[in-house]
Amino acid sequence: MNKTLVTGAAGFLGSHMVAKLLAEGRQVVGIDNLSTGKADNLRTFSDGGAFVFIGCDVADPEVLRLPELEGVTEIYHLASPASPKFYQSRPFETIEVNTTGTKRMLELARLSGAKIVYSSTSEAYGDPLVHPQDERYRGNVNTWGPRACYDEAKRLGEVFCYEYFHRYRVRVKVARIFNTYSAGLRNDDGRVISNFVTQAIAGDDLTVYGDGSQTRSFCYVDDTIRGLRLLMEKDAADGEIVNIGNPVEHTILHVAETVIRLSGSPSGIRFLPLPEDDPKVRRPVIAKAEALLGWKPEISLEEGLRRTISAYRERMQGGMRP
Ligand code: NAD
Ligand code: UDP
Repeated sequence: MNKTLVTGAAGFLGSHMVAKLLAEGRQVVGIDNLSTGKADNLRTFSDGGAFVFIGCDVADPEVLRLPELEGVTEIYHLASPASPKFYQSRPFETIEVNTTGTKRMLELARLSGAKIVYSSTSEAYGDPLVHPQDERYRGNVNTWGPRACYDEAKRLGEVFCYEYFHRYRVRVKVARIFNTYSAGLRNDDGRVISNFVTQAIAGDDLTVYGDGSQTRSFCYVDDTIRGLRLLMEKDAADGEIVNIGNPVEHTILHVAETVIRLSGSPSGIRFLPLPEDDPKVRRPVIAKAEALLGWKPEISLEEGLRRTISAYRERMQGGMRP
């Protein structure tokens, strides 16, 4: 039977991935140090049956000796803080998990013959000077700023993947994931969709940084998870970097207005200073994902936001607010 390891299992993407794999009847081992993830995200998976949870740091060398990882055939390496608020408050942990942690997972793949998907990011393109971004663009990243601990650590994580693929033929696939959302995001993680939806439901003004003309391309979590699953499955994706994101681009101001309209909120908009090094544009070219994986997103921003607003509303009415 296939045994799949998901690192970052208690996080946003990790917990969605575990749910998807268990629904497919797989045996899953989840690793998480619960730094930005929540044990609550794991509560629906009963520990000990098809799902086994290990609370530890993936960068710890002991990880390679865990008996639970024996016979692992697939690894989704998703562990890493992802929200700017969280990675900027944990810079060294962010560097460590994406470099040493990635090396550990590649080593596990080498020793066990497992396939591995590494979750890199659109941040590898930095504040892009080429638009939209395809995988050949080498990026415009600042090493000397508050986003560097994340952006540069992810880029170095990709380098480890390159070396393990070329030296040891480890079947590694790199996903450059673009902004993904759903109600699975913590209300307090500071990312734009979780902030806007939480604020709109509470009737608070939505906090738009800068003038809101910067753009992002938002992918609903189901589409992203499907893309990552295909990346793992397709042999043609071995040793490849593939953008996983929604190619429909929106300004942040448009997103704020859409959240207010769809939630029927009385909230207004409050403009706050733009954070340092905030990328001005971001939109993936997904031709490679379409050709290699037969993948493209299916859920529009409006549909995804509707689902997100209704799930947050239920959660917040149940008394959960950061
Ligand atoms: P998240 O913060 O919700 O989840 C990350 C999980 O990793 C958390 O549960 C955290 O506790 C765990 N973790 C962190 N360091 C660890 C360590 N050293 N050992 C074990 N566990 C550790 O983030 P997410 O949004 O689910 O992102 C998952 C992955 O996808 C990350 O690698 C992120 O960089 C990447 N990614 C996400 C997005 C997105 O829009 N969500 C975009 C680009 C890339
Ligand atoms: N943003 C915003 N208001 C918020 C949170 C974020 O205007 O309350 C902006 C942020 O400056 C950025 C965009 O929304 O331009 C996406 O931010 P997020 O932190 O979600 O992701 P990232 O910057 O990593 O793409």
